[in-house]
Amino acid sequence: MLTGSGGNIGFSIGDDGVLMIDSQFAPLEPKIRAALAKLTEEKPKYLVNTHWHGDHTGGNAAFSPDALIVAHENVRTRLIKGGRGNGPAVKEALPGITFNDSVSFYFNDEQVEVLHLPNGHTDGDSIVIFHGSKVVHMGDHFFSGRFPFIDPQSGGSVEGYLKNLEKVLEETPKDWKIIPGHGPLSFYKDLKNALNMMQVTSALVKERVAAGKSLEEVVKAGLPSEWDSWSWGFIPTERWLETLYNAHTKN
Ligand SMILES: [Zn+2]
Repeated sequence: MLTGSGGNIGFSIGDDGVLMIDSQFAPLEPKIRAALAKLTEEKPKYLVNTHWHGDHTGGNAAFSPDALIVAHENVRTRLIKGGRGNGPAVKEALPGITFNDSVSFYFNDEQVEVLHLPNGHTDGDSIVIFHGSKVVHMGDHFFSGRFPFIDPQSGGSVEGYLKNLEKVLEETPKDWKIIPGHGPLSFYKDLKNALNMMQVTSALVKERVAAGKSLEEVVKAGLPSEWDSWSWGFIPTERWLETLYNAHTKN
């Protein structure tokens, strides 16, 4: 796992070569290569994108001369379309292989399963399950210890995100390591805490909406102080409350 200014990168390194998960931002390429060079002389053979956002795919073109890019079909579609401050991606940045439900690599003596989770963070997210190493890379279905970003304009939803987290927690053994899209290396209990935070705060906003509160009132009421530490620069408490309000008032 590599942390930096974009989404966390995961590597599988072994006799078959290097498989890389996500590519952060283009200007970070030299730093990423330098970090990788400390571990192996090989360049990445495969690059898996967990979803289309620029902080996870910005380095795609820089790695694609050597690496075959693999992602869910909607990652390719949304990269071609552009958005969120990015123009249409160059051809070199696009996944050359796409899938709809899942795809497995049999690589470095284990099954590496890339599994699509529908309409959570976006409509093109996947998690990457290392069945031998007992590790899951969650992409942006996990912001460890902080409020998550959910992107309805890219097909994401609070409801889908919750369902996806429940499914992953049901299927992941408790002793596995969990790589979040953002935040430190985490464990089962951390992912469980994230789900719990979402369930509790979502139920609270649902009650307020049912009581006829406006967005302004919901935001002004804030959250109990136990959730203060989940607030961060990109998704402060106000924005998280707005996300939940919008989720409970759509339709
Ligand atoms: Zn994202």
